[in-house]
Amino acid sequence: IAGVGDVRVAMTASQRARKLIAVASGKGGVGKSTLSANLAIALARAGRVVGLIDADVYGPSQTKLLGTDERPTANDKTLNPVAAHGIRFLSMGQLVSAGHALAWRGPMATGALAQLMEADWGDCDLLVVDLPPGTGDVQLSLVQKSRPDGAVVVSTPQAMSLIDATRAIDLFGKVSVPVLGLVENMAGYTCPHCGEQSDPFGCGGAEDAAAELGIPFLGRIPLDPAVREASDAGLPPAASDGAQSEAFARIAQKLLQ
Ligand code: ADP
Repeated sequence: IAGVGDVRVAMTASQRARKLIAVASGKGGVGKSTLSANLAIALARAGRVVGLIDADVYGPSQTKLLGTDERPTANDKTLNPVAAHGIRFLSMGQLVSAGHALAWRGPMATGALAQLMEADWGDCDLLVVDLPPGTGDVQLSLVQKSRPDGAVVVSTPQAMSLIDATRAIDLFGKVSVPVLGLVENMAGYTCPHCGEQSDPFGCGGAEDAAAELGIPFLGRIPLDPAVREASDAGLPPAASDGAQSEAFARIAQKLLQ
């Protein structure tokens, strides 16, 4: 990565006026990146000017989710975020060549995140940061250096996932970042053929866990093949109209309350 060593980690006053929301999960595969993209778009549709930073060093997926391979341009050393679906975004994946395995340690990841945060975000008043999954050293140093104003934690309803989510909530507690709430993803499945309702990963676990932990429950997103298909096609469901879009819009509204 060019120039990471030069990047100032300290933030300017204008950056502080901008709210930074971290999206985290205790483990991978629970829908953290899907939520980050769609929440950012739902917040934009609710009238905010939103930027999205893909800081998931282990599997940056926002270029795919947002359906664009456009590379960011730069003025001097300042990156210009790429526009997509009513938001602007930058991804760690844009800083390295495609398919390159990222075995970054904390300092490299925080240097790269600083480069993304110090990009020309213009009038963005909210920056959503898609953190890498888990609660290890890389996550901790990203949170410590970026000092988000709040964090959203995503989990499936499964006990295993919720135990890991609780660890993520603890991590934010340790560094005094308020947890804005818990989102339950992959909750409830309606069979497209017979309409039968089922709960492959259970249902309601995250709401109960949020109540126990004394943090807000922000809502649930059903397990829906349409979410996966739209995501794979680079067409985030929150950008169109329909039931999936409404689920993300409700979570955005709760966050803005
Ligand atoms: P993470 O960022 O936590 O690793 P992703 O957002 O990449 O997880 O999601 C993992 C996979 O699950 C992706 O293929 C995604 O399209 C799919 N997925 C996420 N949320 C849902 C959902 N509510 N319904 C169906 N598929 C989903």
